[in-house]
Amino acid sequence: MISSEKYIWGSARRYNAFSTWFASYFGERVQKVSLDAGFTCPNRDGTLGTGGCSYCSNEAFNPSYCSPEKSITQQLDEGIPFHKRRYRRANRYLAYFQAYTNTYAGLDKLRAMYSEALAYPGIEGLVIGTRPDCVSDELLDYFSEISKEKFLIVEYGIESVYNTTLKQINRGHDYETAAKMVSKTAGRGIRTGAHFILGLPGETREDIINSASVISELPLHSVKLHQLQIFKGTAMAEEYKNNPGKFNLFSTSEYLDLVIPFIERLNPLIMIERISSEAPPRTLADPRLWDLRTDEFLRLFEKRLEELDTWQGRFYKQNI
Ligand code: SF4
Repeated sequence: MISSEKYIWGSARRYNAFSTWFASYFGERVQKVSLDAGFTCPNRDGTLGTGGCSYCSNEAFNPSYCSPEKSITQQLDEGIPFHKRRYRRANRYLAYFQAYTNTYAGLDKLRAMYSEALAYPGIEGLVIGTRPDCVSDELLDYFSEISKEKFLIVEYGIESVYNTTLKQINRGHDYETAAKMVSKTAGRGIRTGAHFILGLPGETREDIINSASVISELPLHSVKLHQLQIFKGTAMAEEYKNNPGKFNLFSTSEYLDLVIPFIERLNPLIMIERISSEAPPRTLADPRLWDLRTDEFLRLFEKRLEELDTWQGRFYKQNI
């Protein structure tokens, strides 16, 4: 049995689990309710590009009640009972602006949408997923105001710390832009999260593990880590069909062997909200290698940390 004092995050778990912090922050189950507010994305509408990121398939993630034809209130009317069937203990919710780029509109429109969600009974705050090149200073001012009264996390899709990778997957921004926006957002007292995909084409195992040290320098509140999954109908699925050897599609045991050294180098102050993702097999270009739900993989991950007697940040070196 490990003493909770062993880790700076104050729990006996071997990594800084967002879920543990979140449960103690709210003191009860709080459930995210995904929304599709009908945004598009500058990497799809021609502003930056039309093809989007090569792996992008938002359809794969949208629950059935999410539809941009419905108002925010209507989606919450349907989304809350939808989640209630699965998570009966939840009485409080966060509105999760998830699909596409959820800050890609004028400030007045954005304020109206976020306010509509915040005014809904039982909504405690917002989670807003967006690109690091799509947030204005005025919007950060508004987020900073919301953060003083309500729960708010802004989640940036960063995906890789390597510009060659970002170019290859057609992200349309570089790592420096992302790092600057994370610092700016966190600097205004806004909880700032980031997504990273482990296994993007062109990155070696060493590259991926070393990226944990780069991410560790960011003032992030939390990260979501995902193994690479290739969705049918995407540009990446086409590339995979033509050149499968170029891709790192990990089996669960290969990914476990990668994500553990990764988190050993990750700043222990950064909470981990997710270490893998799941998707319906029918949506994947090659579903053979991954058949675990996120909770099943998490159990394997925690068991392996225990077996190896290791933990998040064990080899983290602060750059002074
Ligand atoms: S920025 Fe997001 S929504 Fe836009 S193309 Fe990339 S993954 Fe898709």
